[in-house]
Amino acid sequence: MHSNFKVGSQILEIPSSKSQRRFALLLALLIVLISVAAIPFGMKTLPAFGPFLPIFISWFIFGDLLTAFILFNQFRASGVPSLLVMSCTYLFTGLITVLHILSFPGVFSEEGMLGADNQTAAWLWIYWHGGFPAGILLYLYVGKRFPKPFSSKNEISVYAALSLVLTFMVVFLLFKLSTSWSHFFPVLVESEGYWNVLVSGAGPAVGVINLIALLIVAVRFRARGVLHLWISIALLALLFDILLTLFAGNRYSLGWYLARINSVIAATVVLCSVVNEVNRLFIRLSDQHKQLLESGKQLERANEELVRLSSLDGLTEIPNRRRLNEIMSWELVAPEERQTPLSLLILDVDSFKAYNDYYGHLGGDQVLKTIAKTISAEVKPFFGFAARYGGEEFAVLLTGLDARGTYDVAEGIRLAVENLRIPHAGSSATREVTVSIGGFCVPPFHKINEDGFISLADKCLYEAKNGGRNRCVVKGWTREHQQPELRLEPADR
Ligand code: GH3
Ligand code: MG
Ligand code: MG
Repeated sequence: MHSNFKVGSQILEIPSSKSQRRFALLLALLIVLISVAAIPFGMKTLPAFGPFLPIFISWFIFGDLLTAFILFNQFRASGVPSLLVMSCTYLFTGLITVLHILSFPGVFSEEGMLGADNQTAAWLWIYWHGGFPAGILLYLYVGKRFPKPFSSKNEISVYAALSLVLTFMVVFLLFKLSTSWSHFFPVLVESEGYWNVLVSGAGPAVGVINLIALLIVAVRFRARGVLHLWISIALLALLFDILLTLFAGNRYSLGWYLARINSVIAATVVLCSVVNEVNRLFIRLSDQHKQLLESGKQLERANEELVRLSSLDGLTEIPNRRRLNEIMSWELVAPEERQTPLSLLILDVDSFKAYNDYYGHLGGDQVLKTIAKTISAEVKPFFGFAARYGGEEFAVLLTGLDARGTYDVAEGIRLAVENLRIPHAGSSATREVTVSIGGFCVPPFHKINEDGFISLADKCLYEAKNGGRNRCVVKGWTREHQQPELRLEPADR
């Protein structure tokens, strides 16, 4: 389907498909063959079927006004000037046909309504059959001369209003010509029939305009676009409508019936194609809308994944320092609302440089991963938050524990790492991989900034290192003593 469909295309840009061209050709052949075959028998009188004319005219009016409406909306959406001309052409034929049927003798009243005389309906028929190809020629001219769409809504509204008023004025003027001023014009219909339509030259004139328009659309524009394709068929049908009428002789003859059928074909093919294309545009649009929604969702998921990944450390797959800073700033931003104490632990692997030197950097990485897992598992029961602080340093945030409780957690981590029993042949301090931990606990509602908090915990880590490593130093607030400073260390080891 999308091979003959451009995204964002308006109806004029849609090329006709092969099957559409084949169908149009078949219809054209049928119109030509049946019409040409019928011309010699055109005068043959058939039974007078009274409702035929009103039925066919209603169809015609409905078809033309609907086509005008759809094309008008296409113009409002695209701002392409020639679409406005085409829309007004259909509005013109629709309105003229309304007047034609109202003024037709013997349909609504014996003489025809609206002050019509016996020539009015015939002249309106001439204006209708000449006006349509003239409108198409104007449409082609405007399309060539003013190919650029109007850009502003204002321009579109102004030109739309002007064209509508102009169309109504032309219709009114032509109606005036065919009623009040009809005596200036030749008599077209006499009791013997339509012969005068031919000899007055009015019939041939509209035939010629039709032929010219048909040749230009079908040959010059090669009926490539879907709209041009069906306009060619409409013009062809209208041309044979005129020819058959000229040779029909009278109402309810074979030629007359066939001419009306050709009119209906002319009014229907463009409408069908326009409705079909608008439908396809709509289907395409809703497909694209669905795709857009789907890709929006995918983007959202990708974003969430990105956010998740950007807050994780690549090596250890636990949260990184960025995430730690984020969580810390949330915890510290409104101390007046924080009803629980808050503790920060900073952990540093002992003599890790030596470990790297001895076991290699990859071996060191493996140890960091193992330690990260161990820390995470140890703080989980306390709802603690563990992150890789940088290098071979980790941090843990804990809430609801005083310095003593924090010390217990720290000591748990220290022991857990020690119990991993990872050999550390390069260390002077121990035979196995160990960590030193510094921690600090601030009481509820205590105001402190991130840097201050970190540096307090860092000082404790420094003390733990200086104290001989593989130990914890935790200070800060305790429940019993309410004292800011507390030093807890394991028994000498
Ligand atoms: P101590 O902390 O006990 O004072 O001694 P240390 O040797 O651990 O201290 P220092 O901070 O001087 O050394 C940290 C070392 O950690 C330096 C670097 O080689 C190592 N390191 C930092 N990041 C990584 C990493 O991602 N992978 C590995 N394998 N090693 C790292
Ligand atoms: Mg270090
Ligand atoms: Mg270290």
